[in-house]
Amino acid sequence: MKITVASGKGGTGKTTVAVNLAVLAASEMDGVAYVDCDVEEPDGHLFLNPHITSESDARVPVPVVDEDRCTHCGDCARACSFNALLAAKKKVVIFEELCHGCGTCSIVCPEDAISETTRAIGVVRQGHADGTTYLGGVLNVGEHMATPLVARVKEDITHDISLAFIDASPGTSCPVIEAVRDTDYVILVTEPTPFGLSDLTLAVEMTRTLGIPFGVVINRAMDTASELDDYLERENIDILARIPLRREIAETISRGEMLLDKNREIRDIFQSLFESIALKLKTA
Ligand code: SF4
Ligand code: SF4
Repeated sequence: MKITVASGKGGTGKTTVAVNLAVLAASEMDGVAYVDCDVEEPDGHLFLNPHITSESDARVPVPVVDEDRCTHCGDCARACSFNALLAAKKKVVIFEELCHGCGTCSIVCPEDAISETTRAIGVVRQGHADGTTYLGGVLNVGEHMATPLVARVKEDITHDISLAFIDASPGTSCPVIEAVRDTDYVILVTEPTPFGLSDLTLAVEMTRTLGIPFGVVINRAMDTASELDDYLERENIDILARIPLRREIAETISRGEMLLDKNREIRDIFQSLFESIALKLKTA
């Protein structure tokens, strides 16, 4: 089972929910993994402090032009949808950072002058922490190919992992869709602010389009009803949990500590969240 924790915007507490849920689940069952797919700004490790057991490059294919064969016809540059090739009079220039590794250029080349190599876009790590398997990716500085790295990180969710909590990037862009794709349930974390509501509506639209069941966790919840509550009721969206707006919670998070260890009330909230999701997955 894979559960993705996502949010329409950054700073809603998505990682807090993902790491605490993973550790709580691991206290009750074997085979739980926390999977950090927020590869541009991974921070789950700050809470989990995992022991890393392996680290390797994540690589993507890029073309190489054999200048001895190339006739500078320009077919490859014209065929590239990503403007990653420039066919100049005497040389084909490859802008590797724009290349999506689709292979089209090598297919269209009439001289069979294009072969393939790979380049590193980031690293993937495996380890363990607090009874969970830790999996995560870190995109290289200046690199923008986050989507293939997310896909690579998810490949490490092997059959011995029975429940994976995938921490997606904030937003609704391609890396988020890659993280959410093929998962069994999505937890959307939001906050009761106008920005929180606006970005949640986009995340809801994305999740509905992908056809994956989902529910919402309201972080920094206040006692009074908000526009967010009206929206969720109108859209018939399940509220899975409310994590209250409290100074001590913010302080615990800012110290990189797990909420479960510090606050009985919060532990109960996560326990009930976990049970409610388990029930939904069972009856799905
Ligand atoms: S398609 Fe092949 S021959 Fe034509 S410019 Fe590109 S690499 Fe050279
Ligand atoms: S592999 Fe695809 S994206 Fe990369 S240069 Fe060739 S055609 Fe462009």
